[in-house]
Amino acid sequence: MTPFEGSEGSIGFIGLGAMGMPMATHLAKKLPTEKQIYVYDIAEDLVDGFCAEFPNKGFKCASAKEVAEKTSIIISMVPEGSHVRSVYLDGKKGICSSDTSKKILIDCSTIDTATSLAVKDHIAEHFPTAYFYDAPVSGGVVGAVKGTIAFFLGCSDADPNLHLLTQLLQTMGSQVIPCGGPSLGLAAKLSNNYLSGIIAIACSEAMDMGMRSGLDPRTLAKVYAAGTAQNTICDKFNPVPGVYPEAPSSKGYKQGFKVQLMRKDFALAMEMAQRVGSQNVLGQSGLDTYTAASNDPRCRDLDSRVVYRYLGGKEDWTAEEK
Ligand code: NAD
Repeated sequence: MTPFEGSEGSIGFIGLGAMGMPMATHLAKKLPTEKQIYVYDIAEDLVDGFCAEFPNKGFKCASAKEVAEKTSIIISMVPEGSHVRSVYLDGKKGICSSDTSKKILIDCSTIDTATSLAVKDHIAEHFPTAYFYDAPVSGGVVGAVKGTIAFFLGCSDADPNLHLLTQLLQTMGSQVIPCGGPSLGLAAKLSNNYLSGIIAIACSEAMDMGMRSGLDPRTLAKVYAAGTAQNTICDKFNPVPGVYPEAPSSKGYKQGFKVQLMRKDFALAMEMAQRVGSQNVLGQSGLDTYTAASNDPRCRDLDSRVVYRYLGGKEDWTAEEK
């Protein structure tokens, strides 16, 4: 069966940036031919580019409201909570300024849980038959292009729309993990990025102290992999260039997860921790480190594991070897 076959209505997509464009492209290529995609972004050139690439499938809208008027399922992928508020709640041009009864609204942006819950509450109050889900993603731009991103879905295993949502989201990615209820997809994503960010700093420091003591970084990576320090950052995203050939560090820290995005998610995770009364002794140092690395011209716009460079780690160790 074609993915998502049989469900009614067209699909809306709002936010055609680094992640949204490849996600919408998968929809355009994989959904049944009769299913149209109505798109909107404040950057009109992105909308025009998408519609030119898919002339019989992609249709231009002038606002989020227009997308809502023409579709029954809408996906949004914008940068921050303020943009999500504007997309959904703007009184003149937002989704909720039209009748969203019975629609399924899926926000894939990584934002604070409080904003996501506020949007959900607004929708529940004004359009009780509509559904709103948080569904942040992991896997980066490369994963979005390859269609391998994972979705952390803010609903329970018993949600009536889970089957439809899984079919739809798998058109753009691989795993769809229901996380239990509203905003819990975001809570899962933020706690994951907090952990991953802390590990990257710890891995950079541990590699650096080992190398300065005379160890080959490849030996260190083997030791961690065999020992109790084993982790994915060290194995596949090692911050030291040349240890793992496929890691962004080995490619000039390009094509990864930008350090500014890590800083943003890290700050959101700390806000969440504070809101729910969770202690995090490593949080402030981590946030200060990513803030400083984001502002450092040697690191800005590069993969977040460039934190190794920011901390003064040696990058040209292979030159010494020769
Ligand atoms: P981006 O800045 O490349 O794209 C965002 C798009 O949203 C832009 O095209 C922008 O014009 C549009 N936009 C902003 N406000 C809008 C509005 N009010 N109405 C319509 N369109 C609007 O960002 P991105 O990298 O695609 O990231 C999007 C989200 O995905 C973020 O929350 C980010 O944290 C998350 N994310 C990004 C990555 C990554 O590697 N880039 C990975 C996982 C998750």
